[in-house]
Amino acid sequence: MSSIQNKVVLITGASSGIGEATARLLAQRGAHVVLGARRTDRLEKLAAEIKVAGGSARFRRLDVANLDDMQAFVDDAHEAFGKIDVIINNAGLMPLSPLDALKVGEWNQMIDVNIRGVLHGIAAGLPIFKKQKSGQFINVSSIGGHAVFAGAAVYCATKFAVLAISEGLRQEVGADVRVTVISPGVTESELASTITHEGMQEGMREFRKIAIPPEAIGRAIAFSIEQPDDVDVNEIIVRPTASP
Ligand code: NDP
Repeated sequence: MSSIQNKVVLITGASSGIGEATARLLAQRGAHVVLGARRTDRLEKLAAEIKVAGGSARFRRLDVANLDDMQAFVDDAHEAFGKIDVIINNAGLMPLSPLDALKVGEWNQMIDVNIRGVLHGIAAGLPIFKKQKSGQFINVSSIGGHAVFAGAAVYCATKFAVLAISEGLRQEVGADVRVTVISPGVTESELASTITHEGMQEGMREFRKIAIPPEAIGRAIAFSIEQPDDVDVNEIIVRPTASP
């Protein structure tokens, strides 16, 4: 039996792309998935599909930039199941632009969702994991967490931050809590839809031609979850074969 079976897995940003595909895959493998995002119509539809297919899913509106929201998301799942096994901090935004376009509002949005959102997931889940003496954080970074691209300075900074926070967390609580970073390369999703800078929109259209399906990232996430409790997959980088 897969060790994903019966695990309670919370997924932020489950309304599209990687989060949605991961939710489907983990539910197929017997996890109780708990879906969070702002677009509840999407979550409702996905949860219904999962249930029709014989899986277990609940959903709740979640803005990861808001700590109270995140706390309620985690507490609600904990109350429903009496435990939480995995929190996937996946929600993210990528409104790329050169720094001299001074899109300060978009920089702040990325900081709020991509960094604060992950920290809020940790803040809400860590006390539960420490009490249980088990649990796994899966934080979604990017190849942009390993290299900086022109036009992506702030996005890359947020993804470097996800790596740094995850490694620090692993060193501090690793005896009881598993910490995994998933770093995707270009993947089919709605991520580029947040780009408002015309030049970057154009560049991204070209770059995304080699994108891999989001299920590819879901499989990497599943691999990290199904390891025995004493095995912590620290990071998986998954990118298209054709990636430069
Ligand atoms: P999508 O745009 O398809 O999905 C992003 C998800 O994040 C959506 O479900 C969205 O839901 C959610 N989200 C955004 N803001 C918030 C918020 N404030 N609170 C809660 N949820 C929020 O893109 P991906 O699936 O590609 O992105 C998932 C992760 O993968 C991101 O962290 C991204 O940076 C990372 N990644 C993606 C790559 C790619 O090429 N696709 C490459 C490398 C990393 P809603 O709008 O309903 O709230």
